[in-house]
Amino acid sequence: MKVLTFHAPGDVRIEDAPEPAPGPADVKIRVRACSTCGTDVKIYNHGHHHIVPPRVMGHEIAGEVVEVGADVTGWAPGDRVQVIAAIPCGRCGECRRGRMTVCPNQVSMGYHFDGGFAEYMVVPHNVLDVDGLNRIPDGVSYAEASVAEPLACVLNGQNLARVGAGDDVVVVGSGPIGCLHVRLARARGAARVFLVDLNRERLDLAADLVRPDAAICGAETDVVDAVMKLTEGRGADVVITAAASGAAQEQALQMTARQGRISFFGGLPKDKPVVSVDSNVVHYRELTIVGANGSSPAHNKEALQLIASGAVPVADLITHRLPLADALDAFGIVARGEAIKVTIEP
Ligand SMILES: [Zn+2]
Ligand SMILES: [Zn+2]
Repeated sequence: MKVLTFHAPGDVRIEDAPEPAPGPADVKIRVRACSTCGTDVKIYNHGHHHIVPPRVMGHEIAGEVVEVGADVTGWAPGDRVQVIAAIPCGRCGECRRGRMTVCPNQVSMGYHFDGGFAEYMVVPHNVLDVDGLNRIPDGVSYAEASVAEPLACVLNGQNLARVGAGDDVVVVGSGPIGCLHVRLARARGAARVFLVDLNRERLDLAADLVRPDAAICGAETDVVDAVMKLTEGRGADVVITAAASGAAQEQALQMTARQGRISFFGGLPKDKPVVSVDSNVVHYRELTIVGANGSSPAHNKEALQLIASGAVPVADLITHRLPLADALDAFGIVARGEAIKVTIEP
């Protein structure tokens, strides 16, 4: 079979590999869709400390069960499934408290296990152990189901930032994650959603699809000023930074309303993780700053339901569908910001 394998930073190859064989507690799937995201481009360029090469990449996975280990119950060939990306251990103190996104023993598809940029893939028992293999609801395509994983992360972020009815929400970053944030905020009853990006082309592409109440280009306009004007001087109830930008995080504090919430959704580069915060702004204005680290198995299930019910449409966010042979082109398209979601159909 064909796979996309990470060997070293800058050295990612499409190559032949033997079909993997599932262990007695594993399930083997025929991958039907695996979406790409910014993380794949980061891995391509810089590698990742959790990836020991060679490793098949891809973590936004949907496919069809083709073989079931002898000890596995509840699954059969032909089942349509979505696979979680981040796998909690299910046993530690955090997992026992239901905080699976911050499990310190977390492992991941495409990092510790071979991922979905392949014709076939083994879903390891670690996934099944934490109920991380999900049935795709009728009417949801494989490509749409592959977007459940990033949507699950967005859902976790908005739960933590308590996005709800009547909120004015600012989303900074108009990539696929930013688009999902806009859509989910609407589904949760946000009053108005404003989308911000530095790149005018990318902003226009996203705004055409997700129709924010205002699209603000940071290269042309003072973003804080624009948000304060749009919110009658209050600031936004929630500001979500879906961009690897310390400047965006610092700006977020200047445009958040009293008792507002700030989600540092996107992480910062490892060598530049420090931002400056006026602690008195947080204190007197009673702000809440929250992080967001991936998603739990339960978030993935809920994300599939949000897609199935039409509450969060994702089909139109998939702007490119490419065969596995073109996966390296897909990374280029993602890196240049020319697409919203690029889905590989191996
Ligand atoms: Zn991803
Ligand atoms: Zn755990």
